[in-house]
Amino acid sequence: MELMSKMMTIKNYINGEFVNPTQDNWLDNYNPSNGEIYGQIPNSTQDDVENAYQAAAKAFLSWSNTTLEERSNILSKIADLILQKIDFLAAAESKDNGKPILLAKQVDIPRAASNFQFFANAITQFSSESHESVGFNAMNFTLRQPIGVVGCISPWNLPLYLFTWKIAPAIAAGNCLVAKPSEITPMTAYLLGEICNEAGLPKGVLNIVHGLGTSTGQAIVTHPKIKAISFTGGTKTGAQIAKIAAPMFKKLSLELGGKNPNIIFADGDYDKMLTTTVRSSFSNQGQICLCGSRILVEESIYEKFKFDFIQKVSELKVGNPSSLDTNIGALVSAAHLQKVKSYIDIAENEGGKILFGGDSVTVKNFENGYYLQPTIIEVSDNNCRLNQEEIFGPVVTLMSFKTDEEALFLANDVKYGLSATLWTNNLNRTMQFSKQLQAGIVWVNTWMLRDLRTPFGGAKDSGVGREGGFEALRFFTEPKNICIQYESPS
Ligand code: NAD
Repeated sequence: MELMSKMMTIKNYINGEFVNPTQDNWLDNYNPSNGEIYGQIPNSTQDDVENAYQAAAKAFLSWSNTTLEERSNILSKIADLILQKIDFLAAAESKDNGKPILLAKQVDIPRAASNFQFFANAITQFSSESHESVGFNAMNFTLRQPIGVVGCISPWNLPLYLFTWKIAPAIAAGNCLVAKPSEITPMTAYLLGEICNEAGLPKGVLNIVHGLGTSTGQAIVTHPKIKAISFTGGTKTGAQIAKIAAPMFKKLSLELGGKNPNIIFADGDYDKMLTTTVRSSFSNQGQICLCGSRILVEESIYEKFKFDFIQKVSELKVGNPSSLDTNIGALVSAAHLQKVKSYIDIAENEGGKILFGGDSVTVKNFENGYYLQPTIIEVSDNNCRLNQEEIFGPVVTLMSFKTDEEALFLANDVKYGLSATLWTNNLNRTMQFSKQLQAGIVWVNTWMLRDLRTPFGGAKDSGVGREGGFEALRFFTEPKNICIQYESPS
């Protein structure tokens, strides 16, 4: 498939085939690096979702009865094929999302393969419990059965990475799927359909419908027979989905927004912290839910950190995502660029001082792309919108603190609770903060080091439930207690 030169028409993937939307209605797909339309995607309706559901329901009986070895082999094959096509997929991801191609090649695509490989292995190790009711001559065991047809909805920031993080465990557990990637970055999910066919995934196990959240996504969430929804996206969207899904008694996993603190103490490894903080602030243009967007620094090293951080950030190259020396590519869309800039615009009114960046960047030969300088804003009041709302772009705030108590208070003083990063070599402080930080994930002296066996997700308004490891397999299965009473031995 020629990716780089011609217009691409993306189709829905239903029952193993690539099909047009039933109403022949299409949306434009933009290349963020130059602002040009380079393809079209289905604007799918309820009818398309229904077709996807029917294909999934038909495939379920057979797929849920395949042996674990068979499922595991197919998932491994998908992982292998992703790695074989890594250059092609990384180029596609970079073009669709605006992220630097090197990042796509080093992080997004390898991780998509790992997601399949991990769950190919995990499903062979997944087991359930038994409980002997001593004194009643009864034995209980828990059957963990696939749910049936499940819905998976994912965002645009790490497109294939997060799409596969849901669908791999769902398929491994024996479910069939109606899945929707973000309409803003549909390309690699589309390409995954071809890979699944090549790997021999039976027809109908995975169905991918493209379209807007408010129509296609909504049709998945409201579908009466889709009994579980795994969603990653914004907190507001998560609340809308919960409102619909709760009275329909759907099982829900919600991975939502974050406003993560990066807490820096003077006793940590300064050089490692500085390099990592540049990454945790601006990787993927700051469009990672785990980015440390609020940097809290101990007062004694605040001025030094400020100077060195600005220096390091000024060395980052903003540019065309397909250049290998680009550190910061394009933001994902014109609308998102506007949203991020609107926060920079309110900085002064909110008592903030822009220490670095703040402006759009014009990249030669890519003048209409969505580029923004990495931006550092100094703030003094944690209640300002810059510190309370998720900006989700290359914008971080800096603030100093004097004591451990103050640092902990500031870190927790937001409605979100996804992740936190702590820089210290003090063991007592490490343990005290780890226990008291209101977050689903705490990284100490590192950032975004992921072991796929660990629970992944957020507290507070950052979500409900956990993905990762056996947690994901538990979500995608329904536990059933079987209680067998037997005659007592005579
Ligand atoms: P979004 O909520 O706008 O969209 C996410 C997905 O939901 C898209 O596929 C969209 O089409 C769909 N959608 C939108 N409205 C819907 C509705 N009413 N019903 C059903 N589906 C609907 O989020 P986004 O802008 O694509 O992604 C950015 C957000 O995702 C940020 O808030 C970020 O923090 C969050 N995020 C969270 C995690 C995590 O693991 N916690 C990971 C990545 C991104």
